[in-house]
Amino acid sequence: MEKLFIASNNSNKISEIQTILDENNINVELVCPKDFDDHDEPVEDGKTFEENAYIKAKYFHDKYHLPTIADDSGISIDYLDGKPGIHSARFLQPLDYVEKNDFILYLMRNTNNRKAQFIADICYIDENDNVTHYLGINEGEISRKQAGNEGFGYDPIFLIPEYNKTEAELGNAYKNTHSHRAKALRKWIEDVKQ
Ligand code: IMP
Repeated sequence: MEKLFIASNNSNKISEIQTILDENNINVELVCPKDFDDHDEPVEDGKTFEENAYIKAKYFHDKYHLPTIADDSGISIDYLDGKPGIHSARFLQPLDYVEKNDFILYLMRNTNNRKAQFIADICYIDENDNVTHYLGINEGEISRKQAGNEGFGYDPIFLIPEYNKTEAELGNAYKNTHSHRAKALRKWIEDVKQ
């Protein structure tokens, strides 16, 4: 495999994926829709992370005929009955993430039920049209306040109890090995290395 298509224009996701591939000596050139000046996006109308990852992977695989990875991910908060889940990107739009995170903290100001998980489904479609899914889950809690400058999205409120720090404080050194996406991607790496 010389080129691997990443079905996302999210630069944070792409750089996380690039770092993990580098660390595992996977030498492929990552290409994404932006490289083709392509700003089209398929409608993500699946009901699960798995369905949405497949929709994205299939759309770009059909278009560019390259081995393709699509990641669909999000945060699921117990106190909010699993929300925002598959709607994590669109949740509370048009607020920015500082505002979204503050709003979640406000909703949860009176509860000790703080369990949450980041979930990623990676869908891989290879050169022979084989479809495989890889699931990664990282358990944590919703913090009491925002902290940290690394990462993106909900990282400033995702607390890792073992370190008593958020993912945004722990940063890439932590995320590249422990994040939901890292866990899913490492399963993919195990498969393609064989
Ligand atoms: P997707 O691009 O449709 O998979 O949406 C993923 C959304 O979930 C992102 O826009 C973020 O809101 C959230 N998310 C996924 N992964 C992470 C992460 O590693 N840190 C923080 N937020 C994340």
